[in-house]
Formats: sequence, structure tokens, C-alpha cells
Amino acid sequence: MTTKKIAVLAGDGIGPEIVAQALRVVDALELDVTTEEALVGGAAYDAYGHPLPPETLALAKVADAVLFGAVGDWKYDKLERRLRPEQAILGLRKELGLFANLRPAICYPELTAASSLKPELVAGLDILIIRELTGDIYFGQPRGRRAAPDGAFAGADEAFDTMRYTRPEIERIAHVAFRAARGRNKRLTSVDKANVLETFQFWKDVVTEVHAEYPDVTLDHLYVDNAAMQLVRAPKSFDVIVTGNMFGDILSDEAAMLTGSIGMLPSASLDSSGKGLYEPSHGSAPDIAGRDVANPLATILSLAMLLRYSLDHADAANRVEAAVREVLASGHRTADIAGSGERAIGTRTMGDAVVAAL
Ligand code: ATP
Ligand code: MG
Repeated sequence: MTTKKIAVLAGDGIGPEIVAQALRVVDALELDVTTEEALVGGAAYDAYGHPLPPETLALAKVADAVLFGAVGDWKYDKLERRLRPEQAILGLRKELGLFANLRPAICYPELTAASSLKPELVAGLDILIIRELTGDIYFGQPRGRRAAPDGAFAGADEAFDTMRYTRPEIERIAHVAFRAARGRNKRLTSVDKANVLETFQFWKDVVTEVHAEYPDVTLDHLYVDNAAMQLVRAPKSFDVIVTGNMFGDILSDEAAMLTGSIGMLPSASLDSSGKGLYEPSHGSAPDIAGRDVANPLATILSLAMLLRYSLDHADAANRVEAAVREVLASGHRTADIAGSGERAIGTRTMGDAVVAAL
């Protein structure tokens, strides 16, 4: 087996601090894996005048997976749009062909108090939301503004977007979802709005066709309004959810609140060959950067997803996730997850605890 390579793009704000802890975990696992770092976001802009320099993109392309921290800082807000740090992640998604966004929402037993819901509704919650990233109303053409055709009001305009999905786009995300469901509890819920939208009647039809290749997985369909309701009424009734770009955007943020802490949520964005970019769901948190208080667990859990989905090291992924459960069970808390009266530890000390648990 050839040595696998992880491109490490730590970025801005708390990015370097939290990624450093994930790299200590990589070392502790003693796998046949190499890492190589490059600048991205504001840090890359400062050094090269561009948030995604060619060197960084080239490294991301040759690597088997990308571990990404976070980008952005207030000090870049005045730059023209194409030079802003956030453009780096959009550029990477596009250049790497990342079309499937996986966001687990896990509620650790010790952290149920931080959830927006009652503990009994979320205790033991472990669901996976899979969002399509390239299609839907976000990218469909035509879109724009124009004068109202009836000219009813002088100077009145209208704005419009086009919701659109192609068969290959739906098929490839459906395959990702069925495979993910197969690796879990073999239950998939496809979320649509087939009662109102032609695009999502098509979505439902194509997902149903792909289901024929996965007879061992149970598939059901839910309208998005009902899914939004069930996520707060009975979130544990789900296992894997697959949906389009816009519904996924909304439902994954809703699911994040069920778990209570943004500092605990990993994410993965995959291409069709199993390569992916892995990053915490939270941003660069410039308000707490450089103070050794950020929670590194979302990044460490993103590393676990990287090991599972891109490097074929499911055992190592399970070990990392078990280590995170263990440090939570033994009472280690960064400030964002510390309850009242609980003592908070720093970023590096949390990293120490995970390494020790491994
Ligand atoms: P973005 O636009 O990049 O998503 P944002 O402004 O929406 O950024 P974050 O950077 O995620 O949001 O920060 C939101 C809040 O959560 C901030 O107060 C930040 O300090 C806090 N936060 C984010 N990540 C962490 C973390 N890993 N540990 C502790 N607190 C965090
Ligand atoms: Mg945000």
C-alpha cells in the first residue's frame, strides 16, 4: 500500500491552534500517513496576495485528503470579493469537485444540557445529514433581476432564481447516501418538496431508482417542512438524511443546534473518488483566536471522518472517536462546553487528553 498524504490547510483565527491538536492525534496514531502544510485564506493573502495560491491548490489536488481549519478575519472585510479568505473554500470545493457535504449531528451523553431540546429527546442522538453541494436553486440559470414584465409599477423590478437538478447530480449524491447508510443502520430518509416542486419530484424519482441497487437499505421520503418539524420533535427517528443544496443548508444548521455545541461538529465534503476536504463546522472565531481557549474536538472529529472516508482507516477513525468520548466522559471541558461550575481547560490541554486517551 502506498503512503497516503494529508494536505493540511490550517488557515486563520483559531484554525492553526485547533489543527495543531489534530496533527498531534495523527502522530499518536502511528499510521503510514504523511502530512504537508500550506497557507490558505487570510494567511495566504498576507503571504502571496491570494487566499488560494496555486501552490496550495496543487498540494490539495495531489493529496489523498485535505484537513482544513477555518478562514476569515474582520481585517479582510474590505478586500474585493475574489480576494477574501472565504473564497478559498469555495475555490477548493469547485476545483476538487466536492459535491457531497456530510455533517454528523451527535449528542454526547455528557453534553445534553447544551442542546436546544430536552435531554430525553437528544440523549444518544447520532444522525448524519448529507447535503448536495453543486446544484439546486443556488446555481441554476437563469437568475437575476429585470423590470417587471407588466410594467405595472414605474421602475418596479423582479428577481428570480432557477431551481435545477440533473439526473447525474442526483444519482451521485444518492449513491454516497446509500453507501453511508449501509455503513450505519441501513436507514435513509430522502427529503424533498415533491408535492410542490418539479425539481424535487424528479429528485424523489431518481433516488427511488438508485434504491434498487441497495435493497438492504430502507428508504423513506419526507417533505422538507415535515422533516424540519420531526428534527425538533423526534430527532432520534432519523439515521441518515439526504437532501438538496438549499434544504440541506437549512436542516444541517437546525441539526447542529440539537447537539448544543458548535465546537463539537465535524464535516466532510467528498468528490466522486473518495477524496475529500474535512473541516470543523464552525468558523475561524477571531474573537477567541490565539488565546488557547478554542475547542479542538470538531477538528479532531473531522480528522476521524478523513481517516474513515478518504484514507480507508476505519479502525483509526473509531479509535479517535472513542478517545473523544472518553475525554468527555472523564470530565474534560473547553470553555464552550463547560457547564456552570465546571472547570474549563485550554485547547492544548484538550489535545493532551485526547492523545492520552489514544
Ligand atoms: P463563519 O462565517 O466562518 O461561519 P461565524 O462568524 O459564523 O463564522 P464562528 O467563527 O463559527 O462563526 O464563531 C461563532 C461563535 O462560536 C463565536 O463566538 C466563536 O468564538 C464560537 N466558536 C466557534 N468555534 C469555536 C470553537 N472551536 N471553540 C469555542 N468556541 C467557538
Ligand atoms: Mg457562520
